[in-house]
Amino acid sequence: MTGDAEGSASTVTAADLAGWIRHAAELVAAAAERLTRLDAAIGDGDHGHNLDRGLAAAVAALPADAPPGKTLIAAGRAVVSKTGGASGPLYGTALRRMGKAFGGAEEVDAALLGEGLRAALDGVRELGQAAGGDKTMVDALVPAAAAYEEALAAGTDLAGCVRAAAGAAEKGAEETVPMQARKGRASYLGPRSAGHMDPGAASTALILRALADVV
Ligand code: ADP
Ligand code: MG
Repeated sequence: MTGDAEGSASTVTAADLAGWIRHAAELVAAAAERLTRLDAAIGDGDHGHNLDRGLAAAVAALPADAPPGKTLIAAGRAVVSKTGGASGPLYGTALRRMGKAFGGAEEVDAALLGEGLRAALDGVRELGQAAGGDKTMVDALVPAAAAYEEALAAGTDLAGCVRAAAGAAEKGAEETVPMQARKGRASYLGPRSAGHMDPGAASTALILRALADVV
């Protein structure tokens, strides 16, 4: 990370992003039982283990010496091929779209990171066709991208923008509890899907918390 005189980072490097993927893998591994329990309540009980496997593969696929964009594209490709379930292609698309948004940049500043987050959300929405309120990971990603952009517009530094996004994702995940699922496996339960947090929204909050921890 490069920083200003006060030591607050103004950009993230490929090494920071690799650190993000590693830390996300750790947080998801530690929460795998909880995520799987959430999925057992309204789905098929595999989400924690799916994502644990996918992120472990992403860690193994991290390139040694590549720019930020290529680093995330490699991670996303591994997530698509190794994560089972609906969430694998969605998370893989999110990472690949974010990587693509970074282009050939050697360092990602706060504005570009925000563009990456927005591109990730757009990719998930295009692929999954879920809207806000459908009780999916979109309910964590939409407030996260909005909070990031709001913080950026207010002149907040990169770390502060990411913290705002992570906090908004956590709140968004909480807000999925009373929702009735309209997309994915949980939608088969109809009204019985209400009363539980969406597992994908919960894991999205963890992944964004991992980013806030490393920047
Ligand atoms: P599966 O449902 O195939 O078992 P997972 O358990 O790994 O896959 O992931 C379930 C999560 O995927 C859900 O909690 C939800 O957040 C997310 N999800 C499922 N379908 C969609 C969709 N169409 N759009 C966005 N997110 C979705
Ligand atoms: Mg599942």
